[in-house]
Amino acid sequence: GPTSAKGYNHTDQYIHLTDEKPADNMYPVISHPEQEQQAREKLAALEAKVGKKPNILVFLLDDVGWMDLGFNGGGIAVGNDTPTMDKLANEGLILTSAYATPSCSPTRATIHTGQNPLHHGVLRPPMYGEPGGLEGETTMPSILQQLGYVTQGVGKWHMGENQGSLPQNVGYDDFRGFLGVSDMYTEWRDTYFNPEVALSPDRFAMMEKETFNHNEVHCSPADTSKCEDLRLIDLDTIKQLDEDWMKYSIDFLKRMKGSEQPFFLYHATRGCHFDNYPSDKWAGRSRARTSYGDCIVQMDYILDQLVKTLEEIGELENTLIFLTSDNEPECEIPPHGQTPFRGCKGSSWEGGVRVPTFAYWKDMIAPRKSEGLFDLADLFNTSISLAGKPGKEVAEFVDDKTYIDGIDQVGMLLSDNGQSARRSRPYTLNQYWAGLRIDEFKFVWTGEIEDGIVQR
Ligand code: CA
Repeated sequence: GPTSAKGYNHTDQYIHLTDEKPADNMYPVISHPEQEQQAREKLAALEAKVGKKPNILVFLLDDVGWMDLGFNGGGIAVGNDTPTMDKLANEGLILTSAYATPSCSPTRATIHTGQNPLHHGVLRPPMYGEPGGLEGETTMPSILQQLGYVTQGVGKWHMGENQGSLPQNVGYDDFRGFLGVSDMYTEWRDTYFNPEVALSPDRFAMMEKETFNHNEVHCSPADTSKCEDLRLIDLDTIKQLDEDWMKYSIDFLKRMKGSEQPFFLYHATRGCHFDNYPSDKWAGRSRARTSYGDCIVQMDYILDQLVKTLEEIGELENTLIFLTSDNEPECEIPPHGQTPFRGCKGSSWEGGVRVPTFAYWKDMIAPRKSEGLFDLADLFNTSISLAGKPGKEVAEFVDDKTYIDGIDQVGMLLSDNGQSARRSRPYTLNQYWAGLRIDEFKFVWTGEIEDGIVQR
């Protein structure tokens, strides 16, 4: 009720402040010069010690919910223990307000371009061979290549199968994975989930002929015209992908031992997008004993193995590890993930886009949680900043008609109790402008309700 108390201000409330554009084609920021200076000093000291720029590992989960992981209150409490993620998160910076877009491909393209979907144009996932992707975009790995990085992509692509969007043509030195999304390879093969296709020879044959690549692939700049097919993905081989991709990333890291060049490793898991098919090794390993829970437990193991390898090759201290999910849980096909927020994958309510996220960097990031706004577009600027082009310098790599929605968050990550440089965060929903968050306020322009989409 009414009180005569004056109340409190919190350090990361910004609505009363004015943000400023670093350049005309860049999203405005709240600048924190002292944070920036401290972060730069830490980076310079590390570079003087190791003799190169820092490595970056982006560990991107698929359809994993905000509360599936123990550091956000899930983990063992929801049937799938995540000890590795919890340990790293609690020794790093847990971002409680980190934002993806409502679905897979728009988020992946946002990470790669630093743009929101209305700017990069991947408004929804391309399915079953549809065009649409990264062609013509300036991508984060392509800039990192120019700045001397070795760039490795592993796992789920789903940013377009057309030639111009293939991994080797948008900045990757090497890629192994699949070009689409997990269920595209399996749903029509499964006699239990989709008997109307799987048990109809004519329909099944139609799906076999669909013009998307049905295989796990290897992509290399040695052949820019296409990727090499490795094996057909079916109900058996799907079980093996995450394990084999883990081994592929481990082999890459081992090759990086003693390298004079820093690396960017984009490890995008198959898990835990529906439908999950645990291998014999993982079936029943979660307390929940669901295919989804078993997958979460496996993802935790995979991260553990990558971190152990970083330690073995002596690169853990020089590597930023960033874990996140491409959207919140899918909620129509059980078993699925957990979120405490309204909505699910596909919507711009918080339960569609506010994703489980932490940044870990041994001895560089102080353990804490932040409610400060972080958009996954910020990974673009932040990575390029770590590679030596901070703040507005990222604009050197794009033409002045290209708008960069990401923000350099190096100061937030690396300085003591660093605050977000982001005052506001825009939401999109397919082709719609959906809303804007500032502090704890969210203004909704376009929202999904039970009977459809409504706009102001
Ligand atoms: Ca997804």
